[in-house]
Amino acid sequence: MSRTVYVNGEYMAEEEAKISIFDRGFLMADGVYEVTSVLDGRLIDFEGHAKRLQRSLDELGMQSPVSMDELLEIHRELVAKNGIEEGLVYLQITRGAPADRDFVFPDPAETPPTIVLFTQNKPGLAESPVARMGIKVISIPDLRWHRRDIKTVQLLYPSMGKMMAKAAGADDAWLVENGKVTEGTSNNAYIVKGGKIITRELSNDILHGITRAAVLRFAREAQMEVEERPFTIKEAQSADEAFITSASTFVMPVVEIDGVQLGNGKPGPVAKRLREIYLEESRKAAV
Ligand code: PMP
Repeated sequence: MSRTVYVNGEYMAEEEAKISIFDRGFLMADGVYEVTSVLDGRLIDFEGHAKRLQRSLDELGMQSPVSMDELLEIHRELVAKNGIEEGLVYLQITRGAPADRDFVFPDPAETPPTIVLFTQNKPGLAESPVARMGIKVISIPDLRWHRRDIKTVQLLYPSMGKMMAKAAGADDAWLVENGKVTEGTSNNAYIVKGGKIITRELSNDILHGITRAAVLRFAREAQMEVEERPFTIKEAQSADEAFITSASTFVMPVVEIDGVQLGNGKPGPVAKRLREIYLEESRKAAV
């Protein structure tokens, strides 16, 4: 069934949606995005995503074509129009479509940004069978640019990383730089040792995950110990458990790293508990 999508101020059928071939998102990956999950037909942590979007735009000197209040309305409208109970809302803003291709940024007075939103229906997102099994990851070098804190649409290397994982019979890849794990291709990475949750500290080296912020807050509130520091693959392989977080996977247990099984090869108790807490609290606070 055809989706209703949103393009530059209008709701339309997905088949009708068109973007210029001169759009800088298409030509130069000059754009930012957000993915917000939907549970029970409501948005999870919309405020966190809206704030990070504003930060990404500010860092690139881009303007939003809509206010953050309007953005919430558009998200809600799309969820309603497409009858999404569980799924995702994808949002992308680019620096727009100037008259010709040029490396120099166009004058924003003449070239308005492009904004596109669409929904992805994902029944069973919360009750994921994958989360009951856990995932396998491989490690690959982190060859991305050095402003990973900005959520840009330059996703070629993460996409290649997922393909490398698939070719190796794994589910995802963890990126390694200077001997330490930065994050997953599209998620933040954690290990658990002696009950302590260890994850890399915030910097320009990683995306400041909205799920990460919420999960660490819930962990601390539940009196779990959290240590924000980098770790190696070797340390991860000898950890009690591991997991990843993202808006689309929530808290997802990791049961194997570069062919080495963690513990008994089943999701660990900390990851399981954090997933439960995260889903419960997020559903309560959804808008
Ligand atoms: N790191 C990277 C590189 C990502 O692409 C993502 C998800 N887009 C995350 C972390 C997780 O961020 P969030 O929890 O906000 O989805």
